[in-house]
Amino acid sequence: MPGLVNAHIHLLDSIVQDACIGYSISGYAGSRGVKHALTRLYGREATAYKGFIRDHLSMYSSIGDFLENPQYCSELRQLFSEYNVLYKPLSRPINTLDPDEYSWVAKTCGGVGVANPTNIPPYILDTLARISRDYIVAAHVSETPWMQRVGGLEYLVEHGVRLRHVVHGVYLEDWEYRYLVDNDIVLVVCPRSNLWFQGRLPRLGKAYNYGVGIAIGTDNTGCFHPNIWSDIEIAYSIVHSRNPSVKPREFLKHIIKSSIKALALEKPWYIVENEKADILALNGREIMVHRSYDKIGAIIKRAWVSRNFIKITDQVIKKL
Ligand SMILES: [Zn+2]
Repeated sequence: MPGLVNAHIHLLDSIVQDACIGYSISGYAGSRGVKHALTRLYGREATAYKGFIRDHLSMYSSIGDFLENPQYCSELRQLFSEYNVLYKPLSRPINTLDPDEYSWVAKTCGGVGVANPTNIPPYILDTLARISRDYIVAAHVSETPWMQRVGGLEYLVEHGVRLRHVVHGVYLEDWEYRYLVDNDIVLVVCPRSNLWFQGRLPRLGKAYNYGVGIAIGTDNTGCFHPNIWSDIEIAYSIVHSRNPSVKPREFLKHIIKSSIKALALEKPWYIVENEKADILALNGREIMVHRSYDKIGAIIKRAWVSRNFIKITDQVIKKL
C-alpha cells in the first residue's frame, strides 16, 4: 500500500505514559495542563525520544507533530530521518505574544501549529497570515464545546491566515464543513482522542459527503498509542455507517491524499516511473487478506493486529 502518514501527534508527552488518566482535556493538555510540567521534567533532551521513535513511529513515511517546544525541531528531524521518516514539526513560540518568535519558529521548524486560535491576540494575526504563505500553518479547532463557541476557524481565516489543516473539529456545524471545502482546508481527525476526552466523535459521514478532505492522526503519544489503524477503522466506520457505498479503496485513497495535502508533502500518493516510490508492505496472511472479500477492507479492518510492516526504503531494495 502507499506509505502511511500520521497527520497529528504530540511527541513530547510520550515520555510520560498515561498521565491523561484522571484529567480532563484542559487539566491534561491545556496551557497549564499536567503534561507540560511532566514533559519538562522528564524530556529534557531530544535524544530521550529516540527509542520511542524507533519502536513506535518508524513505520510511517511522514508525521505531523504539534511540537510544544520549537527548540527540539532540528534535532528531532534528524532523529526521524535515521528511520526514513519525513518529520514535519508544527511548533509554537514559547512567548505566544511575540510576533518575531512566530517567524523564527516557522523558519526553524517549517510550520506553526496553533494550540488554540482565540488565544492569539489580533496583532499577531498579520504576521501569522504572512507566515502562512510560505510555511504550513495549522490549528486545533472545535475540540471542545467551548472552542466551538468561541470559533477559532473563522477567526484565523477571516484575518488572512491560510490554514493547511485544522485538527479535531468535533463540534463543527454544517456551514463550517462547507467553509473548510471553500477554503481548501483539510480536517485532521483523532477519533480515539475525541472518545477519551469528549465521549464524542466528529460527524465524519456528513463531512465526507460535503467533500471535506479528511486525514487522520493519533494525537497525544502519552495517552494514545500512535498506531493509527484503530483510528482509521473508527473513521471509516462512521463514514460507512452513513454511506455504505463508500468502499475501503476509496476511503483509504482519500485519507492518504488528504494527509499528503495537510502536511504539504509534495509527492504523489501513487507510483511514478523513475521517481522514488513510497510503499509500505504488509503481511497479507496476518490480516487474512487471502480470505477477504475486500482486500483493502482487510487492511482497514485488521492491519492493527499486524506487527510486520516493512517500509520499502533504498536499504531494503539493496538487500533484495
Ligand atoms: Zn493535538
